[in-house]
Amino acid sequence: MARPLGQRQLGESFWPDLGNLVVAVRRAMWITLLNLFRKPVTVQYPTVKRVYPDRFRGVLALTYDKETAEENCIGCRLCEYVCPPQVIKVEMLKAEKRNFAKTFTLELYACEFCELCVQVCPTDAIIMMKSFDLATSDRRELLLDKDRLHTIGLQFDASWATGTGLRAMQTPPKAAAEPKPAAGEAKPAAGEAHVEAKAE
Ligand code: SF4
Ligand code: SF4
Repeated sequence: MARPLGQRQLGESFWPDLGNLVVAVRRAMWITLLNLFRKPVTVQYPTVKRVYPDRFRGVLALTYDKETAEENCIGCRLCEYVCPPQVIKVEMLKAEKRNFAKTFTLELYACEFCELCVQVCPTDAIIMMKSFDLATSDRRELLLDKDRLHTIGLQFDASWATGTGLRAMQTPPKAAAEPKPAAGEAKPAAGEAHVEAKAE
């Protein structure tokens, strides 16, 4: 059985171990040399920003209605109920024509990015953005209130996924409808087709 490297018995020669060490160092230096001439895979962030893939979904944000410029959130609290780590807190403000969120906070530092809040939102008010650029060394900056969430919604590009879009994707396709019989063509009575087939 091969003896592990470095476990020499007393009195054994150290030359085999030294040989193995030289081979290992030479191999490592060769790989380093090869990498010197390779194109880097990293970028100088934040000066250089990568183009995110089309389906990228990052930080969460709140949206406004593009036509009326009103907040889309109706304060229904569905996102709060569904959030697994319970990082969303919403207070509803009842109004005459529609409801609003009086307060809306999201603890982004504890968010799992599971997207469940986006999926249940009936008004596409909460969405994910095509960015993650909120890196900070101060945890408190990731406690997002309503204003901050709206600002993020205006700051970055929205991802493709909205609650309406995601729910449509998950709805099973409807079964194809049976063709209607032509006018004047009587529908065969139950069992008739079976009897005809037997007579033949
Ligand atoms: S993405 Fe998931 S964990 Fe994060 S706020 Fe939404 S529901 Fe909660
Ligand atoms: S973000 Fe959507 S789900 Fe959450 S309270 Fe507002 S309307 Fe309801």
